[in-house]
Amino acid sequence: MVQCVHSVQELRNILKPLKAAGKTVGLVPTMGALHQGHATLIATSAKENDITVVSVFVNPTQFGPTEDFDAYPRTLDSDLKVVKNAGGDIVFAPSPKEMYPSEDMTWVELTGNITKVLCGKTRPIHFRGVATVVSKLFNIVGPTNAYFGQKDAQQVEVLRRMVKDLFFDLNLRIVPIVREESGLARSSRNTYLSAEEKAAAVVLSQSLKKALEDFKAGDHNKASIIEKVTKIIQAQPLSDIEYVECYGLPGLSELKDEITAPSLLALAVRFGNTRLIDNIILE
Ligand code: AMP
Repeated sequence: MVQCVHSVQELRNILKPLKAAGKTVGLVPTMGALHQGHATLIATSAKENDITVVSVFVNPTQFGPTEDFDAYPRTLDSDLKVVKNAGGDIVFAPSPKEMYPSEDMTWVELTGNITKVLCGKTRPIHFRGVATVVSKLFNIVGPTNAYFGQKDAQQVEVLRRMVKDLFFDLNLRIVPIVREESGLARSSRNTYLSAEEKAAAVVLSQSLKKALEDFKAGDHNKASIIEKVTKIIQAQPLSDIEYVECYGLPGLSELKDEITAPSLLALAVRFGNTRLIDNIILE
């Protein structure tokens, strides 16, 4: 059975004896509206740890003032079923007040390019919100392993840096992108798409797949790869590109003309009001 707890103290009370008995703990931070992508993270954690804690928290501090915080789907009842079926043990579903008890607060903020490029350009406070809430979750749970998806590739780079800089004593485990049969990356925001937009959005994974083929066939020119992806997406009239960019891994380093392996090719594209992200590693 999955236990659902809402307070920090209750969660600590449950975990304390388990940890004292030497149990390993996996943490899977999510914003809920759980789908097959989340389920894969949970199942991976369940395989690798004695106890798996899944947090379900729509984190207000990572949404900008014009973003979809209020509209974001909240589906705790069905989330509990997904967690159970994937082998999770505990759901931590705190209120915003529990996580942010006071208006004055401590932020965790990374400097440098890592939070300024890609999504950071149009979402300037996003990664500060992510780093802050993930730090809180790490301190509340004290996990052995923490699970994140490659779907949010910039988040992964930010968290790798944060774990290193703040000496968090845990392993980051990164799970590959889980896609629908069509190739569309699974996302809680896919529920916003009309049937027509959803069909059109397949162009994102198709363009990235083609870029990897071209890269493997010898085209390592950054401008050429980005232009080809851009053209494929622009040929789909429902698409509205925010960015198609390429940075070096790890750490999202600037690339000159040449793409050196491994590099991250990432994009953000709107279909109607829905902003989708996707990426591929060129290596
Ligand atoms: P979210 O609820 O969107 O904040 O996502 C919670 C975690 O699930 C993050 O680490 C995401 O990267 C991961 N995730 C979301 N969608 C996918 C997916 N399609 N494949 C793999 N991981 C995913």
